[in-house]
Amino acid sequence: MKILNLNEGSFPIKLSFELENHNVPNIGKLINNLSVEAQILKISKNLYKCDGSVEGNFLDTCQNCLKDTEINISNIINVTIKDSAEIHTDSSDQDQTHYQELEYFDLYRFIEEEVAIIYPDIVKCNKDCLEEPHPEEQEKNLPFKKIRDLIE
Ligand SMILES: [Zn+2]
Repeated sequence: MKILNLNEGSFPIKLSFELENHNVPNIGKLINNLSVEAQILKISKNLYKCDGSVEGNFLDTCQNCLKDTEINISNIINVTIKDSAEIHTDSSDQDQTHYQELEYFDLYRFIEEEVAIIYPDIVKCNKDCLEEPHPEEQEKNLPFKKIRDLIE
């Protein structure tokens, strides 16, 4: 756990660190470290922004055939950060806002929440694994079917 007090200190806060493991439920195990390069900017009182990137490789299981499947995430972080006290009163319509207590800002919890959002909902060993056979392949068998029909 790494706690920052966002109410104090100087900005931007540069972040460059790696996580060896994570506490995100229902996603794969990390193969190598999750690396984070980002900065937290103070926009105004109680309004912060984090931008940067997160990257990692996970070992997961294909939902269809249960084969070991490597999932790579490499994503831009571009998130507004506000105090959790504002979660019910915030009427702005931002795409991505992360709410947390600013005085005890848990950096790893923030990153884990980002990873949970970025991580693919469907894990497949390859893009065709969950799909029906290719329509072209079905077409290919048609002439044979016709010949068979003639024979019968
Ligand atoms: Zn599969």
